[in-house]
Amino acid sequence: MAPMPFRMNSVFMLPRWTRSIHNTTTHLRSFTTTRLRAQSDSRSAIVTGAGRGIGRAIALRLAQDGFDICVNDLDKNIEDVNNVVKEIHLLGRSSVAFCGDVSSMTSVQEMIAASVAGLGPLNVMVANAGIAQVGWPMEIKEADMRRMFEVNVFGVVNSSIAAAQQFIKQGTKGKILNAASGVSFRTDPLLPMYSASKAAVRSITQSFAIELGKHGITVNGYAPGIVQSAMWEHIDTEMGKINGLPQGENFNAFTKSIALRRTSIPEDAAKLVSYLAGPDSDYVTGQTILVDGGLVYN
Ligand code: NAD
Repeated sequence: MAPMPFRMNSVFMLPRWTRSIHNTTTHLRSFTTTRLRAQSDSRSAIVTGAGRGIGRAIALRLAQDGFDICVNDLDKNIEDVNNVVKEIHLLGRSSVAFCGDVSSMTSVQEMIAASVAGLGPLNVMVANAGIAQVGWPMEIKEADMRRMFEVNVFGVVNSSIAAAQQFIKQGTKGKILNAASGVSFRTDPLLPMYSASKAAVRSITQSFAIELGKHGITVNGYAPGIVQSAMWEHIDTEMGKINGLPQGENFNAFTKSIALRRTSIPEDAAKLVSYLAGPDSDYVTGQTILVDGGLVYN
């Protein structure tokens, strides 16, 4: 009698394999998979910028919700990415690691191909990767401004277009979720380009929702408030250089302005993303929803 495949937590275990894709120009992209999805009712999601912070929390929450996850981050964060992949395996889901820069359309297309090869048809794209810069509007440097828009805006546009093309090719519905921010509703003067980039994300979210609705694809944004993460540590340090507040005080200063009297943790945003990625939000599209404990009212 032929041996039965070893089955665990609804997936078939396959030998571990690793592959690297070398681009002839600038990027090194790598992906690793340890399991192949075998159940037709499984769902898969890609989460960009998921090596740490909000993206990591979203990846883990969606895995708990039953999604198999493609974990993306920059090459330099491969160790973080692999750790998140391991955490997802411990939750009993399949996971693929893909390192690449979302500001490159080629990289995003390769990420989707790697996800589909490892996890099957794509159901949800979470365009979470983002960067922040601090400074007065009159001191903006052109190179910084370009990088801000390359990652926060082009990254979202690349992810939306490539994911939508994949959903349409599959003939399936799909969900695209974009990381906006409270500053997309109320600009912070010390985060001028960051605020502008996140306002662009809100607008782009609406445009794609209008175009893709006829394919059954929903497009929404999640807008966290003041979240404990490496990004806010960076913002806090840079604001401190300008206003002299000691480390942590720019972050903590928000607490009294938040209705729920606490700053946020990444899991707060992940809970909203869980709703937006799941069936209960099927009739929601084109919206950017705040999850900030009551800081901005819009
Ligand atoms: P973070 O800096 O802790 O994590 C962001 C991750 O994205 C990092 O691991 C980083 O390496 C990755 N990344 C950056 N550029 C990338 C690129 N070009 N390609 C692929 N990956 C890239 O930030 P976070 O606080 O977890 O924020 C996640 C998202 O949420 C961002 O879009 C951010 O703007 C947004 N956001 C954060 C806050 C907050 O308070 N932390 C508030 C509102 C919105």
